[in-house]
Parts: sequence; C-alpha cells; structure tokens
Amino acid sequence: MKLLVVAEHNHKALAASTLNTISAASALAKAQASHPSAPQVLELHVLVAGHQAEQAANQAARCQGVHQVWLADGPAHAEPIAEALASQALHLIHTLDPALASDASAGHKADGLRAVVLPSSTMGKNLAPRLAAMLNVAAISDITKVISHDTFERPIYAGNVISTVQSIDPVLVVTARTTAFEAVVSGAEPAAIAAVQAVDPAVLSRFVSQALSKSERPELSSAKVVVSGGRALGSAEQYQAVLTPLADKLGAALGASRAAVDAGYAPNDYQVGQTGKVVAPNLYIAIGMSGAIQHLAGMKDSKVIVAINKDPDAPIFQVADYGLVADLFEVVPQLTEKI
Ligand SMILES: Cc1cc2nc3c(=O)[nH]c(=O)nc-3n(C[C@H](O)[C@H](O)[C@H](O)COP(=O)(O)OP(=O)(O)OC[C@H]3O[C@@H](n4cnc5c(N)ncnc54)[C@H](O)[C@@H]3O)c2cc1C
Repeated sequence: MKLLVVAEHNHKALAASTLNTISAASALAKAQASHPSAPQVLELHVLVAGHQAEQAANQAARCQGVHQVWLADGPAHAEPIAEALASQALHLIHTLDPALASDASAGHKADGLRAVVLPSSTMGKNLAPRLAAMLNVAAISDITKVISHDTFERPIYAGNVISTVQSIDPVLVVTARTTAFEAVVSGAEPAAIAAVQAVDPAVLSRFVSQALSKSERPELSSAKVVVSGGRALGSAEQYQAVLTPLADKLGAALGASRAAVDAGYAPNDYQVGQTGKVVAPNLYIAIGMSGAIQHLAGMKDSKVIVAINKDPDAPIFQVADYGLVADLFEVVPQLTEKI
C-alpha cells in the first residue's frame, strides 16, 4: 500500500510544514502496518511539483521513512496554483494506483493508494478539498493525532473539543496540523527520485502576481520564540517601539491578536488564533492581550507561555506558565534591557 505526501516547498528547499507532514504520514503508515485484520506493507511517496525543483526533491529523498520521491518539474508549477497542483497530484495518484482512474471507489488493495497527506497550511487547505472531490471521498482536515489506520483526532470549536473521526472511505485525504507532529529527521539513505510528467492543465485561473512580506525574522509558524502583542499596544508605532526590541533580543517572530491586526497595529499575516496561524513555539510571550478563546486556539500548545497584562483576572493567565500583572509600557522595556 502507498501513502502520498504532497510537498510544500520553494523549489530550493522543503517548507518546514512538509517535514511535519511526512512525520504525520509515517505515523499513519505505522497504524496501517499494525492494523490487526489486514497488516500492510507501506510505501511513503512524496510529490514535489515545481520548476527547477531538484534541490527540494533531493531534500525530500533524505527524509526518514520516505520510499520514493516523484519530481514533476515544469513551468506549470513555477508558481503555486492549487488547480494545477491538484491535477498534478491526481495524475500521480492514477499512476500509483491505476484502479482509481477507472473506479474512484477502488483502493484498499494491497498495492493501492491508501492516503494522501497534506500540511494544514494554506497550500494544504487549498488542495485537500479539491483532491477529495476528485477522488469522491471526504477530506479530513487538521488532524492532531493518528489513533488507528482509519481514525484520527482533530480539534473543533476553536480547540475546545477534540473530536475523534473515523473514515470509511477507501482512500484517505487528510491535512495534518503541523504543530502536532515533530519534524521528520533528515539525513537518511536517499530514497529514489523519479520524474513524473508535469501536467499543464487548461485551468480557469492563472498566476498574476505574488506579494510576499520579506522579513529577517523567523517565520511565525515555525519560530522557536514568538513575541505577540494585543489591542493594549494602542497603535502601530507603539507595537513596533515596544515589541520589536524584545523580539530582536530573543531572535523571535512577531505575532498579534486579531484585535491588534484589525486595528492596523500589525500586518494580517501576524495574526495568531482560530482564524490566524497556529503556533507552538518553545516560548510564547503574550503582551497586552486578554486571551480570548479564539486567540488561545492558535497558541495554547506553546511549551512555555508568558503573559503580561495589567488585569489580574485576564483569561490569558489561566494558560500562562508565568504571569506578570503590570503595565506593559513600563515592564516590557525593562525586561528588554535586562536580557
Ligand atoms: C469567529 C472569530 C474568530 C476570531 N479569531 C481570532 C483569532 O484568530 N485570533 C485572535 O487573536 N482573535 C480572534 N478573534 C477575536 C477574539 O475574540 C478577541 O476579540 C481578540 O483576541 C482580542 O484581542 P486582544 O486580546 O488583543 O484585545 P482585548 O480582548 O481587548 O484585550 C486587551 C488586554 O490588554 C490588557 N491591557 C490593557 N492595557 C494594558 C497595559 N497598559 N498593560 C498591560 N495590559 C494591558 C487588558 O487588560 C486586556 O486584557 C476571533 C473572534 C471571532 C468571533
């Protein structure tokens, strides 16, 4: 049986999310292998669809547990377009499991495709429903744990309830919450890399432009330390003046509550929470934010949480490992100076 991971990358290197996703796929492979009624030999395949993306493919081949890397290299994949990537993934799925091409309910055969695993990132969320629809199965999003060959845990209601979901579909299409799975170890004996024809589908969408925010800071989703600010910062100028020196000293990424983003204190891609990014750094410093459940949904799995708030009853203190009841404008500059 085969599992397929669709890699997220920038042609030169895999995104950190791909390493966590390979790890989630390995956990699923182990669960398939130990399924008592039908233990299976599992092969973990990775699709790298890109343009001049050999480096990313080489990196994927060195990841622990990867059996085979498929490189679909062509101009159609120079930019990440979900429609093109979905067609490419489907083309490979039909190559790996020809029975699925004629009968979408096929699968579950000893040498067939069992699962497609994607990161729970913008790319994965864009691709999973398309692939699930093409395969006529349900997509299971944002899994945080593999319980067995067909059963997963996933958070609902902003992380307040953990639901257990069982699938009866022959092929599983899942997205994995990257913070719930350790990054796979690199440096294994390289797996084989094979070329697969780059599919250039006549799609209704085309790439126009991409506006990337450039930053010297670590990427928010994978940063080890996050300094995050809320509405109490009061303005974009104060957000920068108070938080940037602390983040600089700690080599941290900057984050924000939705209230701070909506007020224009911080850019959109800084938002942490239910409708923002999900982070789980070693250290999360929440400054001048109340700790609304929608915010907690994005950061409560952080290893150590430090909260600074002048209200001792602020809900953020319920999840904080260390709390400081103080005016942020007084204590944050003092803290920065002491580091
Ligand atoms: C569907 C939905 C989705 C949402 N998604 C998200 C999301 O993804 N992320 C998110 O963050 N929110 C989200 N929200 C919004 C969320 O409910 C809260 O409104 C928001 O998180 C509040 O932001 P805040 O903590 O910065 O502001 P507030 O709740 O206003 O808290 C400000 C805090 O600062 C403290 N404070 C004030 N002055 C000082 C000072 N000088 N020093 C120290 N402390 C001070 C106050 O005591 C207070 O606790 C969502 C809401 C909905 C309905």
